[in-house]
Amino acid sequence: MERTLAIIKPDAVAAKHTGNIIDIIENNDFNIVRMYKTKLSRDQAERFYAIHKGKSFFEELVCMMISGPIIVLALEKDGAIKAWRELMGDTNPANAAPGTIRNLYGISIGSNATHGSDSPATAVQELAFFFPDL
Ligand code: GDP
Repeated sequence: MERTLAIIKPDAVAAKHTGNIIDIIENNDFNIVRMYKTKLSRDQAERFYAIHKGKSFFEELVCMMISGPIIVLALEKDGAIKAWRELMGDTNPANAAPGTIRNLYGISIGSNATHGSDSPATAVQELAFFFPDL
């Protein structure tokens, strides 16, 4: 069984899509290993997205991620990393396939409802960031 980190971002939490997104997660046979609600500090958001430091959208990304509470989840399933990214859809909601989470709940590329780890190495790092006991 593979694990991945999922985040329900501030835009989707504020719009009260948390329940619908958790429904989608459970209907797609993910096991929710851990889950909690938190609000990131600027320092935490900058460290979490350090890979994007220096990019044109970095400041906008950090501001969006600290704009309100988020839900962080450790998800488990065979092939969880790819399966969760497919379920989220394209980074830009305008290009996300019908029925994907970003198609259903994303507002813009900056406010695109969810995050998911993009590789096994990233998943290990990101899970340790939010769930050091795992
Ligand atoms: P992801 O793996 O699909 O989340 O996409 P990336 O790792 O490429 O980017 C991380 C996050 O940065 C995305 O989920 C977007 O919310 C945000 N992002 C990426 N590109 C842009 C952009 O051009 N403008 C803004 N405002 N945000 C962006």
